[in-house]
Amino acid sequence: MTKQKNRGYKKSRNKQYQSEKQNSKQLPPNKNRKNQKSKGKPPAADKRQHGKKSVIAEVTCSGLTSEGKGVIEWEGKQLEVANLLPGETAEVIVSKKGRFFNTELKRVINPSEDRAYPPFAYYHESVGCQIHHMNDQAQKRFKQQVIDERMKPFGKPNPIITMDHPYDYRNKNVMTFGLNKKRQIISGLYAENSHQIIPMERSIIHDPKADEIIQTIKGMMKSFKMQPYNEDTGQGFLRHVLIRVGKMSGEIMVVLVAASPVFKGKNHFIKALRKTHPEITTILLNINDRNDSMVLGNQEKVLYGKGTITDTLCGLEFEISAKSFYQINPVQTEKLYTRAIEMAELTGEQTIIDAYCGIGTIGLVAGKRAGKVIGVELNKDAVRDAIRNSKRNGAKNVRFYQGDAGEFMVQMAGRGENADVVFMDPPRSGSDEAFLSSLVKLKPKRVVYISCNPETQARDLKYLVKNGYKVTEIQPVDMFPQTTHVENVALLEIKK
Ligand code: SAH
Repeated sequence: MTKQKNRGYKKSRNKQYQSEKQNSKQLPPNKNRKNQKSKGKPPAADKRQHGKKSVIAEVTCSGLTSEGKGVIEWEGKQLEVANLLPGETAEVIVSKKGRFFNTELKRVINPSEDRAYPPFAYYHESVGCQIHHMNDQAQKRFKQQVIDERMKPFGKPNPIITMDHPYDYRNKNVMTFGLNKKRQIISGLYAENSHQIIPMERSIIHDPKADEIIQTIKGMMKSFKMQPYNEDTGQGFLRHVLIRVGKMSGEIMVVLVAASPVFKGKNHFIKALRKTHPEITTILLNINDRNDSMVLGNQEKVLYGKGTITDTLCGLEFEISAKSFYQINPVQTEKLYTRAIEMAELTGEQTIIDAYCGIGTIGLVAGKRAGKVIGVELNKDAVRDAIRNSKRNGAKNVRFYQGDAGEFMVQMAGRGENADVVFMDPPRSGSDEAFLSSLVKLKPKRVVYISCNPETQARDLKYLVKNGYKVTEIQPVDMFPQTTHVENVALLEIKK
């Protein structure tokens, strides 16, 4: 169990800070006490737990934060509790350390109708699945509300497009390696805002095969005397393992992320791994000697296979490198792209810009119904993939450029060029003023803005609405079931 500092809950009058345990275990609800209600009761117990003073409080959850945590009132303070739903009364362990409060759900007394009980043994292990305790309907309502709220100034969003089987969907898994207190090798994910590894063998949203390969690697490390890297001492070798799975093609890439290029027993290791998992199609060694939280370093070496995988999306084939961005939920990506391209109302003659294009997926799919496509992307590997992908798919009307999308747009606007449709799909931080001001100068009739962060999207939409555009359709898509993340597409049309 880990604890780490959390941001203060915004609505708290006292600006109390609090934190939560990431993998707080949820105990089965006690059905006999179903309707019992009690708000902010005084501490029922006072004991030393986890080395600090903690109390068990019986509380009722009054709402949800945008991160999917339950809001409770305790001793006049508003605190957040992971895995708790509105209307539920529960026993919560509250502990204080300095100015911070930790909360951990101990027992739900009256479970909400919105609660989900996925029948998986590994359910509790699924770190990063902040709302896996909500059933499908509740998750849908939660995400719709997040988007409705954010998009209020621009119009009423369509109903969110959900996923039929909202499990096992990720085509990319990254697990971090380390030692536990008993000096046993563990693999898992970092706790929120921390570098503490929470061991995890299986997640409800990961590709099962990818999780299996990671467990095999963990098991092999001991016999190969391979040490996990220790961030504090700088000792050890293996930092992370990244796995990419082509969900359609079945191809599998394994990237061993190590602190040093000296890989003792490399050939034997690769042979043994391939023997257990003949389905692996390529293996890479990536060297990351940095101190930040980036998983991949710049240097990489292909140890087996071609160094990339190929997958099929929207009927086209895409080659994907380790470092390139590729949407992690291909089932929902097809729905997302289909809707985004419908919204663009392509005629077959227009000039299209695919900004922040990654490996060229949107541009190449849309290119089948366009006169000309110009793609721009910052990541060199992704641009190389995009160019290869246009050749592979025989696209003659598509050009990809490497560079900052904002600078690229400034140059285009400077040359007095025009575009009919712009697809933009920036990273979480959203776009920038250089991009947006040039976009306005290029005067596309339609802008299709795809975003994985409705907060920065709302900020950018506000700019475009002030500068000659109106938002005419909003379409949320659930690309990340079980988590609080949500993807949203907004269509902007130029005002006549
Ligand atoms: N449209 C693609 C990728 C979207 S993710 C898809 O659907 O797969 C966002 C992409 O923006 C990433 O590939 C990232 O490398 C790229 N990016 C980030 N900052 C950028 C910038 N300043 N200019 C251009 N591309 C950028």
